[in-house]
Amino acid sequence: MKDEVSFAGRPRYANSGFGPSFAVLDIGLPDRVAVVEPESAFWAVVDTEALPEALSGGLVQDFLAQSEAFREEMQRLRFGLKPSAVYFNPTERCNFNCTYCYLPEDMRRNGKTMTVEKVNEALERLEAYFQRTLEPGTKPQLIFHGSEPMLAREAVFSAIDRFHGRFIFGVQTNATLLDDEAIDFLTSRGVGIGISLDAHEALTADKVRKNWHGQGAFSKVRRVMEQLASYEAFNVITTVTQENVTLLSDLVDFYHDAGVGVIMFNPVRCTREGGRNLKPDDAVLAEAFCAALDRTYVLFEKTARKLVVANFANVLAGVIGPTGRRLMCDISPCGGGRCFFAVSAHGDLFPCSEFLGFPEYRGGNLFQDDIQSVLKSRPFQAVTTRVVEQMEPCRRCAVRHFCGAPCPAEVQAVSGTLEAPSPYCRFYEEQVRYAFRVVAQGREAAYLWNGWESETEETFRCA
Ligand code: SF4
Ligand code: SF4
Repeated sequence: MKDEVSFAGRPRYANSGFGPSFAVLDIGLPDRVAVVEPESAFWAVVDTEALPEALSGGLVQDFLAQSEAFREEMQRLRFGLKPSAVYFNPTERCNFNCTYCYLPEDMRRNGKTMTVEKVNEALERLEAYFQRTLEPGTKPQLIFHGSEPMLAREAVFSAIDRFHGRFIFGVQTNATLLDDEAIDFLTSRGVGIGISLDAHEALTADKVRKNWHGQGAFSKVRRVMEQLASYEAFNVITTVTQENVTLLSDLVDFYHDAGVGVIMFNPVRCTREGGRNLKPDDAVLAEAFCAALDRTYVLFEKTARKLVVANFANVLAGVIGPTGRRLMCDISPCGGGRCFFAVSAHGDLFPCSEFLGFPEYRGGNLFQDDIQSVLKSRPFQAVTTRVVEQMEPCRRCAVRHFCGAPCPAEVQAVSGTLEAPSPYCRFYEEQVRYAFRVVAQGREAAYLWNGWESETEETFRCA
């Protein structure tokens, strides 16, 4: 009774009265659980035996003392950022016809390619916009993206030279057109290079990633990967499908042996039918993905050399401290249309490249419209106001701010509305649990990129 009086005016318990609502998450460890306040993404790993104390004692008081700061941080991350990057598609065409591509076939076969002059004009306009909106000295990022940007090589290289030092450049490519000269050009200018490869052997790698004649390019892409493995600004994206989901652990060995430092294991987007047909089962994906992450840890222990799985590292960094994220798919609203936007080969503006095949999500045109107005257009607003709080079951999901229910484009394609959970819901749940497990075991340094400590303000605690 005395204690009750001493807490008058200040909640003592979680989950009743004016106290915070804490969710308790099983994280797959026998002796520890995660306690999460879902709205602010505050959390702690707690010894199972100490759970009663956590729900009525110090953890509640800790949360109350910090809740305002947590909410403000989350609010800023979710609603207070400005665009600082562009996914730039200099051509609609591709020399490949991958089964799961998120762009319509006609566009990739017969689409438009920008001239050197048009790319330069586009970058002038983008630079002028960023000069008005970004802090002085902040360079915007510009990623030449696909279809296959190397089909517009002359325009891309000309722009990289002309705007050198004014943008941070990257190229996302299928790697089939990267010859020695192109590699020299890009690496000598510090351009980020991402390539795509789906398996460690030709049979699987070439099955879904193939050209218009049905031929894959495993040997060529492998050669490029080996040439670039030690280049700091290099990564490999593996799109995970039914075809390669059971190979992820082997792929970890393959990439690690080759000296690659950063990869992504991106579950295939269900944005078009080809991708939907190749979607791996969530449970199979979760098991294979976690086994592959386990394998990266074993290799790190053995060799002291990391293989960072960037899409997982991003979730882990987001758990450790919300602002530690580098990618913006696992928060809602996602980054599309608010942290970056996409420019098509016609100059049309979309919230993200993932929306390029949806004409109804075109917000305007770079050459005709004011970018600020485009960002406020109805198609952009539809994506930038899509929040987990509007959706079942996301609005009551304890990991909603570590998942974000991505991706709006694929959700639109699968469910016919933006306001539905991710088709990979079960996988994302497991991924977040794995992240909590990593932190509970004190292993986060093995999974995160070098330098993460200085970028991430930690907001977790182990109690
Ligand atoms: S998609 Fe699933 S895991 Fe993600 S926020 Fe929604 S309910 Fe939670
Ligand atoms: S969730 Fe989808 S639309 Fe949003 S940033 Fe990621 S890929 Fe783009």
